[in-house]
Amino acid sequence: MIDSPHEECGIVGVFAPNEDVATMAFFGLFALQHRGQEAAGIAVSDGETVHLHKDIGLVAQVFNPHNLAPLKGNYAIGHTRYSTTGSSSARNSQPFLIDTYLGPVAVAHNGNLVNAADLRKDLLKRGVGLSSSSDSEVLTMMLAGAEGDTWDRRIQHVMSRWVGAYSLVVLTLQGVFAVRDPWGFRPLSVGMLPSGGHAVASETGALHTLGCQAIREVQPGEIVTLSNNALRVYQAVPRASRLARCVFEHIYFSRPDSFWDGLSVHQVRQNLGTQLAREAPVDADVVIPVPDSSIPAAIGYSRTSGIPYNDGFIKNRYIGRTFIEPTDSLRKQGVALKFNVIEDNVRGKCLIVIDDSIVRGNTSGPLLKLLRDAGAREIHLRITCPPIAHPCFMGVDMGTYKELIAHRMSVEQIREHVGCDTLHYLTLEGMMMAVGRQEGYCTACFNGDYPIAVEFGNTKTGFEKNGIA
Ligand code: SF4
Repeated sequence: MIDSPHEECGIVGVFAPNEDVATMAFFGLFALQHRGQEAAGIAVSDGETVHLHKDIGLVAQVFNPHNLAPLKGNYAIGHTRYSTTGSSSARNSQPFLIDTYLGPVAVAHNGNLVNAADLRKDLLKRGVGLSSSSDSEVLTMMLAGAEGDTWDRRIQHVMSRWVGAYSLVVLTLQGVFAVRDPWGFRPLSVGMLPSGGHAVASETGALHTLGCQAIREVQPGEIVTLSNNALRVYQAVPRASRLARCVFEHIYFSRPDSFWDGLSVHQVRQNLGTQLAREAPVDADVVIPVPDSSIPAAIGYSRTSGIPYNDGFIKNRYIGRTFIEPTDSLRKQGVALKFNVIEDNVRGKCLIVIDDSIVRGNTSGPLLKLLRDAGAREIHLRITCPPIAHPCFMGVDMGTYKELIAHRMSVEQIREHVGCDTLHYLTLEGMMMAVGRQEGYCTACFNGDYPIAVEFGNTKTGFEKNGIA
């Protein structure tokens, strides 16, 4: 959980006449804070003008009553960012807002286009200036110049040129559109607000926060127009013949109270723990999770194995992302800044530790050392997914082979490196059995089977090396 991949972003959209849509978007983003902690922004339309506020920081650091007050209107979109394409400068924060022939348009994007470099070159050749290194700006500028005299036609037109992961919310003077790529990489759902109108968000958990009912997914390839009564749903491009939902939403990214692919994330995580207990049983005194994302899996492992569950770590829930650099002596504390051990629960005991993933492998060792220092007798580490041996080009921050420990080392070498007595990764088959579906998911970071053609070397800061940083 401390060495898990970072999701790119969380997005929301709201259409609610006579409501304070900016505050609703704020609470939607607040519920999606775990998806991106580097910057946040909200754009609002009152039918005549689009107002925007965005900055670097957590949602609650970026917004206050003073800067929310001028964001008046019927329509809003919002974004909370973790950088994948483009580093985390303020210039790359979203929504992107530009003026066009059809009036202002603002875009918030979750995902990553794998053909962004080519699209970017095309734009630059045509004399379109770009002010950031983000693929989301490329996508916004393409929308501005697209054919079609309505926004849904323009969106449809450019969708046929975009390859990769994009869940989008698009704000114009008169509406909010929700758009999802034909492969369905990233989640996006809509629901009806209690006061009338609709909201859209990356996760169903955020829609529940806003009190939404009748929640449905935006289906792959769809454009959904938010409105007061019925939603207008339009299959803009055909669904891909091979759907590719990111399986990591189940393992780590999504809130456990969210649904992904119609499945309860919490239930799938419990199933992952059950599968682990079947694949890699071991005699032990207690099952402990690395909080928070591994808690349901640890419950599943405990139930299946009959070995009691208990807390071993307490995580500081408020540490989040901080812009205050720790002092040298605090930095040496490393993971201890974030986790404390409950010594009574681990001293002299044989532990099964459940974690969701190991990406770079530089924090699992210090975390397990905290348990050793507290007197743990044996540590058996169980991971709820297979080794991550391949990069992700679809919007998750693990873009190169060399950063992935499972690409460089065998499982036995990793076991030695992190310092546990035994190590087992859930098999690909076991993971998909826990999900309950064999088809329709991307599993490329585990088996290298990319659902779309990808260009190796396409890293998150690739554009920055060639120009804007
Ligand atoms: S490569 Fe892995 S992280 Fe990336 S979209 Fe596929 S399953 Fe998700």
